[in-house]
Amino acid sequence: MLESARTRENRRRAREESQPTLEEGVAFRAARRSANQRTAAGIKGKDEERLVEFECECVRGDCERRVRVPAYVYRRVLEAGDQYLLQTGHHASPRYRTIVAFGLMSIEEEI
Ligand SMILES: [Zn+2]
Repeated sequence: MLESARTRENRRRAREESQPTLEEGVAFRAARRSANQRTAAGIKGKDEERLVEFECECVRGDCERRVRVPAYVYRRVLEAGDQYLLQTGHHASPRYRTIVAFGLMSIEEEI
């Protein structure tokens, strides 16, 4: 049992090493946030309550996941400043606190 947990941990580390550096990841995150801000800016009035697809704001370079939340929820994430909209299991920073997790959608705060 212990051995298998260690093997899994080693595999997880190997996978992380092939991921972009944190600096690169933060640039990916910033690009996705800009795209999401443009999406949110195009939504007005009663459409605020409608589910909208936003890009996952994680630091993975190859992430193409989309997360569906109402625009007003995403606006709250933006207003909080250090919060990110994510596919559950993806992260926007090495240290985080989960604010909301609902199905495939998570909102995390960088700490
Ligand atoms: Zn992601």
